[in-house]
Amino acid sequence: MGDSSIVIPPKRELVQPRMLIGGQLVEASDKATFDLFNPATGEKVAHVPEATEDDANAAVEAAKAASPAWSALDPAKRGACLKKLAALIREHNKELALLEATSMGRPVSEYIDGMAAAGHFDHYAEAWPSIQGQASLNTPGFVTMTLRQPYGVVAAIIPWNAPLLFFASKTAPALITGNTVVLKSSEKAPLAAAKVGELIIKAGFPPGVFNVISGHGLPSGAALAKHMDVRVITFTGSGRTGRSIQEVAARTNLKKVILELGGKSPVIVFDDADIEKAAEDTMHSIQWNSGQVCMANSRVYVQEGIAPPFIEAFKRKFAAVRAGDPTRKEINHGPQADQTQYKSVLSFIEEGKRSGKLLLGGNGNLKTEGGFFIEPTIFLETPENSRIMKEEVFGPVVNINTIKTEEEAIQKANDTEYGLYAAVYTKNIDRAWRVAKALNSGYVGVNCTSPQTAKDLPFGGYKMSGQGREGWLYSMDNFLETKSVMMKIDG
Ligand code: NAD
Repeated sequence: MGDSSIVIPPKRELVQPRMLIGGQLVEASDKATFDLFNPATGEKVAHVPEATEDDANAAVEAAKAASPAWSALDPAKRGACLKKLAALIREHNKELALLEATSMGRPVSEYIDGMAAAGHFDHYAEAWPSIQGQASLNTPGFVTMTLRQPYGVVAAIIPWNAPLLFFASKTAPALITGNTVVLKSSEKAPLAAAKVGELIIKAGFPPGVFNVISGHGLPSGAALAKHMDVRVITFTGSGRTGRSIQEVAARTNLKKVILELGGKSPVIVFDDADIEKAAEDTMHSIQWNSGQVCMANSRVYVQEGIAPPFIEAFKRKFAAVRAGDPTRKEINHGPQADQTQYKSVLSFIEEGKRSGKLLLGGNGNLKTEGGFFIEPTIFLETPENSRIMKEEVFGPVVNINTIKTEEEAIQKANDTEYGLYAAVYTKNIDRAWRVAKALNSGYVGVNCTSPQTAKDLPFGGYKMSGQGREGWLYSMDNFLETKSVMMKIDG
């Protein structure tokens, strides 16, 4: 209980974050914690509260109690809290970057999440005037109208790869629309979320409106998924967990479920593409955040006429990453988030060596870096039906295959159960449109690729990459019920 201020400690002093429940910074009710290790060094950095089921229930109870007053509040006043939080996040951006580098290994040089999170809170703070229903006189003798109203308590469960980005993109639209929120951070990256928990108090949110708990999926994530008072659950993470949440939601109160899941994103590079630009973009897509990005283009299909120079340029650029301590400014390639991720990526690499032709990398380099670093890795000529072509690796590992025709490229690109982000590089505008239309994907980049996105476009997956859409013009809708009201008029 009580105040805590999270800062990166001198060596060996452990961070002890707290959870925010009902306006109080608290430990787990049974005092249980789990250890968090710096993936760049293996050093223990924090004891993090492991929320019990009772803690998750207490957070939902606090959110439920705060709901009537928050939903009735002038939305401009709700917005003022969001604005203040945005300012506080900006003020603490450097500290948040260090916390993230220490917990999940993101290089500070590539830390965009704090500013992006502040941008979300700022945007939604002023978005409330678009919460609107409709009215009509189309039914004789009646005025009919729709009203948009909050659901009540929203639970948000987020992954570790871009923690504050998801923290804000889920909670800000839920809050401005008058819902109260319980957010569960990822057990792999709980520190920045816990810091924002402290800032939420300073931003002036009434107690219980915005709760932040930490811990593993079991018990606290699952407790939120089954809770009868949670009316919406918005989740970003793996397909496996998404399915489980969907099942639990269906078995309990049929809460609304929004799912942003994994990807196996293809990019097609045709003969007429700008080779250097395509190589630079597609390399960046799979390298950024050490490949731990849902929409990273992990499958590259290059047309045979430019395959040798494209592959050469890709390899040269990918090999030039600067790996090392993610808290140093010159570093742009951090470790994988933890040992589990590291081992999982290495096991894919070993399979890749058996099924395809290794061109670059292929090793972990624990010995040289003292952490969970993986070399940028390229495979060529990998059979389409091999596991590494079908499943998400979530590491700096790319498969580059050569294609002959447009039809072949589209068929192979679409031969996946995922559909999050696909891209095509060509100077032929007719082909660009044909291919963009044919790709089974929620997002398509033409002469650009992930992580390039636009704030006012919806983001979400086809097929097993998810359900629903998020984005500045779309997310508020996820958290608003629609009520139809008809009023009889005499005369
Ligand atoms: P994960 O599914 O293991 O965990 C995500 C969150 O779910 C964590 O907070 C975890 O504690 C919680 N959780 C685990 N089991 C649970 C359960 N039974 N009930 C409720 N909650 C539970 O995913 P991860 O490893 O943290 O994230 C990586 C995955 O996220 C990748 O598949 C990646 O593609 C995906 N992702 C998708 C997007 C997108 O926008 N589509 C963005 C980022 C990451």
